[in-house]
Parts: sequence; C-alpha cells; structure tokens
Amino acid sequence: MSCPACKNKLTIFIIANLKILTCENSCGGLWFSRDQLKIIGSLNPGLGLPLLKIKHVDGIKTYRRVEHICPYCKNTLLFRHFFSKKFDTEVNQCAKCGGLWFDVAGLSNIQSMTEQHKKISLDKYFSTILYKNIKNIPIINEDVDEVVTSIVHVFKFLCPKGYFPE
Ligand SMILES: [Zn+2]
Ligand SMILES: [Zn+2]
Repeated sequence: MSCPACKNKLTIFIIANLKILTCENSCGGLWFSRDQLKIIGSLNPGLGLPLLKIKHVDGIKTYRRVEHICPYCKNTLLFRHFFSKKFDTEVNQCAKCGGLWFDVAGLSNIQSMTEQHKKISLDKYFSTILYKNIKNIPIINEDVDEVVTSIVHVFKFLCPKGYFPE
C-alpha cells in the first residue's frame, strides 16, 4: 500500500497486536484501519509513542494540497476532518472503509525538544488541535461522533500520560 500523501511505500508497525501502517523515511504519516480503531481506546495511553519517533523527512509533503487516495480502497478519496498548517497536522478519513490517516509531523517534532520546551509546545499544540480543531468538527450523526472519539483515542495512544490533557 502506498502513502496517501507522498506515495512512498507504507511499512507495517506492530504495537500490542495493532498493525499500523507508517510512512517511514518519508512524510511520517500513520494509517489506522477501522478494526484497529475499535480497540485503540482500550489500550494504555502513550503505548503508541514509538510511532511519533519513526524517521520522517520534513518538507516532503509536496502532495499536501492534492486530494489523498485511500491506501486500502485505492479508488476512494479521503475526507479531511481537519488541517493545521501551523502545527503540521492533518486527519483524513476514508468514508468507505472507515480508516483514518494521521499526519502528525508537528506532534512528532515536539518529541525531540528538551523537557521544558516539550511541555510548553504540547500545551500550545493540544489547545489548538483538541480545543479548536477536533471540538469544532460538527457532530451531524452517530458516525461522526464515533470518528471524533476515535481521533481523540489515537492522540491519547500516541501521547504518554501527563503529556495529553485530561
Ligand atoms: Zn508519506
Ligand atoms: Zn478506504
């Protein structure tokens, strides 16, 4: 399967029986299938931290303004739930298979900061991503409600306790 954003070949990354597809050595994007999303909420927060540390190259996203094709269905376009240029983050979804595409380069870059800068940067990051972007997704039906919950679960999965706001 190839990356919806940069066309690089995706690599399988296994954490706690979850199979996550990662765009290693390129844009660093992450693909979570609907099956993985069903169980991710029951896993310990921060278990997915290694996913933020996979090698990625900054500035590779030349396809950012182009619509992304689902890596699984291949003939459907992903729907963008939100996008933050400032924080180099976007979350897209396939309406057909329900998988979610996460580009969290901004969150990933914070990981290499010193503890002091990390805390400040994470506060800024989440005050936008959680309290502006995710909170403003209009809940028009149960499916959207479910996906918003999944998005929050993925962020919790990626961030150790103490880094993710309560
Ligand atoms: Zn990529
Ligand atoms: Zn799909």
